[in-house]
Amino acid sequence: MEKLIVVTALTGNVPTRETSPNVPLTPKEIAADVRRCADAGSSMFHVHARDSEGKPTLDAGVYLEIVREIKKVAADVIVMLSTGGRASKDPEARAAPVRLAPEIASITTGSTNLPGIIYENSPPFIEFLAGVFKENGVKPEIEVFEAGMVSNGLFLAKKDYFELPMHFNFVMGAPGAIPATVKNLLFLSESIPANCTWSVAGLGPREIPLATAAVVMGGHARVGLEDNARMPDGSYATNPGLVERIVSIAGQVGREIATPEEARRILSLDPALKDRILELNPN
Ligand code: ZN
Repeated sequence: MEKLIVVTALTGNVPTRETSPNVPLTPKEIAADVRRCADAGSSMFHVHARDSEGKPTLDAGVYLEIVREIKKVAADVIVMLSTGGRASKDPEARAAPVRLAPEIASITTGSTNLPGIIYENSPPFIEFLAGVFKENGVKPEIEVFEAGMVSNGLFLAKKDYFELPMHFNFVMGAPGAIPATVKNLLFLSESIPANCTWSVAGLGPREIPLATAAVVMGGHARVGLEDNARMPDGSYATNPGLVERIVSIAGQVGREIATPEEARRILSLDPALKDRILELNPN
């Protein structure tokens, strides 16, 4: 089995200080959490940006400020930018983080219901966004909320937007999307080509159980306050606390933890592109 990549989804679009008192919102807070999570064993970070009022934004300037702050304190970690749709429905706005040319960015290859909204990703929009990934040489992480999103992702490889092997993240347990069961995780993990990689993000109380399943199944684990505000005992979680929990579980069953360098190899990321985003976008 490959070493375990622990991905931290630090902030998301939805958590607030009321629902998740320890959620990092400003670039400096996000960077400080990255440092602590990296010390605890996380190698890749899924980043969302907030404006000065704490609301979701896809503003390239804010994303860049976050990346700069992170790289100051944790130069080696993998930074993945989100193209999620809560901040804007405008296609260009959602493509903005990808145009910065990060090492990796997320793309959801289909539509689904999420609490209070339709998370809309139409076929023309997905193809447009995939084109921006290709133009900028950005590795996609395919966000899978429903089984059809796997085949939609592979279809984009067939149309030459994406290269195999691809990386998938199964987001499980959102009300309105695929339930967070081990049976469903097994089904999804067997739906992708054998040379592809996957991680799982279980929502709420399913985060640690599904991450544990990934540890023993050979997948990778996403934890963090974007997906889950609480520890298994019900107390408010912190990002480093969630990383420590899954790293400890992995240690107990003998799965080793990947460093950022090892994670790049496992994900077929070119180490030479690690700081491209800042080289292309100086100050
Ligand atoms: Zn996200």
